[in-house]
Amino acid sequence: MTGGSPRQDYSGKDLMFMKIGIVICDRYKSCADGKCFRAVNNREGAFDIYSKDEPLEIVGYTSCDGWPGGNIEYAPEEMIKNGAEAIHFATGLVVGYPPCPYTSYFRDFVETRYKLRAVIGTHPIPQKYYLVHNALGTWNNDEWQELIKPTLVTEEIRKKYD
Ligand code: SF4
Repeated sequence: MTGGSPRQDYSGKDLMFMKIGIVICDRYKSCADGKCFRAVNNREGAFDIYSKDEPLEIVGYTSCDGWPGGNIEYAPEEMIKNGAEAIHFATGLVVGYPPCPYTSYFRDFVETRYKLRAVIGTHPIPQKYYLVHNALGTWNNDEWQELIKPTLVTEEIRKKYD
């Protein structure tokens, strides 16, 4: 652990980890990752649980390796060797068309198998995705409302990620 005082995540849980791994949806494997890294720097979206006063280090970055996400079985092990204290599943999992149906399962698997905190989301949901999913009713249930919570943010911030 890199130290620092405890912080709280969106559910009020104390956090101290500052080394993280990121797993993206393979559909976006050619993504330049600009939004994720900007959000890390700005501590926006799912990264707003971390203090801006301390470094946040990405110690692993990979994709799920395509349907049905087999890389998630192994990738956290490599990230843990580099000191990862949490795994973030990229926002692409929740905003894709359709969103990844395994999102909850991946989170629960990482937390159960690796005893590692798994966070759904990286950068804020872009406003253009927010509008289409709202029109589709994609997230109109308790499970999805919970999954998008860390990256929902405000309209003003969502627009910065369009
Ligand atoms: S939808 Fe899920 S399983 Fe399919 S490529 Fe994306 S993250 Fe992997």
